[in-house]
Amino acid sequence: MTEIGPIFIFMIFDYAIIGAGASGSLLASSLLSHEHFSGCSLLIIDRPGEAYKDRTWCFWSDKPHPLDHLVSHRWSMIYAGDAQHPTYQSIAPYTYQLIKGADFHHHFRPLIKADNRVHWVDGEALMLTEDEQHVTIKTDGDSFSAYRVFDSRFDYEQLMQSKRYPVLQQHFVGLFVKTKVPSFNPDQALFMDFSVHQKGNTRFMYVLPTAADQALVEYTLFSHERLSRQAYLNEIESYLANRGITDYEVTQTEEGSIPMSCYPLWQKHSSRIIPIGLGAGWAKPSTGFTFDRTVVRVQRLVRALIKGHSLDSVQQKDRFWFYDLLLLDILDQQNHLGASIFTRLFQRRKPQLILKFLGEKTHFLQELSIMAANKPWPFLKAFFVRLFKGF
Ligand SMILES: Cc1cc2nc3c(=O)[nH]c(=O)nc-3n(C[C@H](O)[C@H](O)[C@H](O)COP(=O)(O)OP(=O)(O)OC[C@H]3O[C@@H](n4cnc5c(N)ncnc54)[C@H](O)[C@@H]3O)c2cc1C
Repeated sequence: MTEIGPIFIFMIFDYAIIGAGASGSLLASSLLSHEHFSGCSLLIIDRPGEAYKDRTWCFWSDKPHPLDHLVSHRWSMIYAGDAQHPTYQSIAPYTYQLIKGADFHHHFRPLIKADNRVHWVDGEALMLTEDEQHVTIKTDGDSFSAYRVFDSRFDYEQLMQSKRYPVLQQHFVGLFVKTKVPSFNPDQALFMDFSVHQKGNTRFMYVLPTAADQALVEYTLFSHERLSRQAYLNEIESYLANRGITDYEVTQTEEGSIPMSCYPLWQKHSSRIIPIGLGAGWAKPSTGFTFDRTVVRVQRLVRALIKGHSLDSVQQKDRFWFYDLLLLDILDQQNHLGASIFTRLFQRRKPQLILKFLGEKTHFLQELSIMAANKPWPFLKAFFVRLFKGF
C-alpha cells in the first residue's frame, strides 16, 4: 500500500479508476491527453504486483494506429481450420499484430504516474459506497472519494446472476517455447488449429511464431469449465511432439479465462460508478477478443463524457451482439460444434471478410454471406429457442 498524505484522504477526486490494466491505462491516458480534463484530478488504484505484465494482446488492423510503436510482431498470413497441414492465406491489407503486456505498461505507467493530476495508489479496492454527492472507495489501506469511478474489476459471479444468457469461457494456457532448431514460420499465425481432439468441446491450438525458433503455443477452449493446468500442458506437449518438436525450452507462460457471454454488464452502471473493460462486457462474446474493442470503447466513453452524452453510446445490444448470442446459444447446448462452424467459415469465405465481420465493420449483405457459409439448421434452431427465452 502506497504512503498517502492526509490531504488525498480528505479531497474528492474528479475521477477515479480502479485497475490500471488494459482498459484502466487506456482510459487514464485518454483522459489525461484531452484538454477538456486539463483541470481534473484523477485517482488510480491498482492491485500491487507484477501480474499486469503477464499477457500478450493480439488484434488485427488494416491501418496505422496510435499503438503502432508498441507492436512487437505482425503476421501477414493466418490459418483457421481442422486440416493436419494448414494452408495459410494472406490477410492483406490486414496484419495480425502483437503487443506485449510488459511493453504496454512500460509505456503507459510512467506517463500516467508522472502527470501531476494523478494520484496513484498501489492497493486493493475492497468496497464502493455511493451517495448523492460522491463515491467512497474503501481500500485495504485508506479510503478515498471521487465524483465518478471507472471500475475495471471483473468477477464471473456477476455474469452468473443471469439465467437468460449462457456463460462460457475462452480459457487457455500458453507456453512461449524456444526450439533448438528452426521449427516455425514467423510470417504465419495459426489462428485456430482444430485438428486437436475436440473431446466434446470446442478446442484448438493457437500458435504465434515470432522467430524461426520461437513461438507462443496456446491450448484454448471455448467451453463452460476450465481444465486442470496439467491437462493444457499435456496437450501442448503432445501437439509439439506430433510435429517433431521435442527439443525446446519454455521461456515464459501465460494463462487466462476470458468471459464469453452476451449478458449486458455495461448496463449495470449508475451516474457515478461506471464499469469498464471485462467488467463492462467489453470482451467479444463469440471470440474473447477484447483489446481493440477496449481501444474503441475508451474513445466512445471519453467522447460521451466530454459531450455530456448518455453512456449508452459506448456499447449497445446491436446486431453483432445478436450474432454473438446465437453462436453462444449453439455452443452452450452443443459445445462440440465450434470446430465445424469456424472451419466451414474459413473454408468458404475470405479471411479478410471474416476479420471484418469479427471486427463488427461489415454491412448487412456481407453478414448474410457470412451466415450462408454454414449449415443453417443449428442457427435457426438457436434463433427460435431464443425467441422464447427473450433477448
Ligand atoms: C493471458 C491473456 C491473454 C489475452 N490475450 C488477448 C489477446 O490476444 N487479444 C485480445 O483482444 N484480448 C486478450 N485478452 C483479453 C483481454 O484483452 C485482457 O483480459 C485485458 O487485459 C482486459 O482488460 P481489463 O482492463 O478489463 O482487465 P485487466 O487488464 O486485467 O486489468 C484489470 C486491472 O485491475 C487490477 N485489479 C483487479 N482487482 C482490483 C482491485 N480490487 N483493486 C485494485 N485493482 C484491481 C488488476 O491488477 C489489473 O491491473 C487476454 C487475456 C489474458 C488473461
